[in-house]
Amino acid sequence: MSIIDRILTIIITATLTSAVWIIAGGSLIKLAEDQTGEASMRPAEAQPSPEPSPTDGATARASNDTDLAKSDPVALDTDGSSSSESAPPGVLRIPVLNVRAADLSDTFLDERGGGNRLHEALDIMAPVGTSIVAAAPGTIERLFFSEAGGNTIYVRSTDRKTIHYYAHLDEYAEGLKEGQRIRRGQRLGTVGHSGNAEKDAPHLHFAILRTTADAEWWEPANAVNPYPLLVGR
Ligand SMILES: [Zn+2]
Repeated sequence: MSIIDRILTIIITATLTSAVWIIAGGSLIKLAEDQTGEASMRPAEAQPSPEPSPTDGATARASNDTDLAKSDPVALDTDGSSSSESAPPGVLRIPVLNVRAADLSDTFLDERGGGNRLHEALDIMAPVGTSIVAAAPGTIERLFFSEAGGNTIYVRSTDRKTIHYYAHLDEYAEGLKEGQRIRRGQRLGTVGHSGNAEKDAPHLHFAILRTTADAEWWEPANAVNPYPLLVGR
């Protein structure tokens, strides 16, 4: 091997090594940034704490496509009211059976986490096992278990700009699945205290999130107070 060949070999080796470090280092920094970003947007009590991944979205979308084509086994599982068709669009149904507007109290601006954040949802108190029904029609986008929210449901509106979030469920309605279309008033499950709810104060944590049509279910969104929409004021 001539001197020139050796020098060339050394230069090439050095360049490749640097390149590997630059690329690997760059990805590590990117990874760290991603994780920080995710942590800072982690939302409040009973809000989701998912670890979203591209696979997650792909699976959800794939199941949506197949499920929508099939028949709907839970379609008949309602509380018997005919409100789904007759209600004007935009009017919400109180999502817990046998709860009247007068029973609700506005807990939207309650402080949580020792005053660090606002509740930004409504807690609807009811005994364990009471039926939870859909406040509005939409598509079940995600059935998710999170440490804070316990058993949760994300229902996406048809225009995809609103998400109704139901948390602390005891059980899901039988056959309920992601991608399924649901009607206003359709039974979704039962009240419980899964997640971080107090055992002696079972309730439905109900949030309304305004988002954009192309945002994923776990992305940050603006909470709207459900109280005036539920009591009709
Ligand atoms: Zn709550």
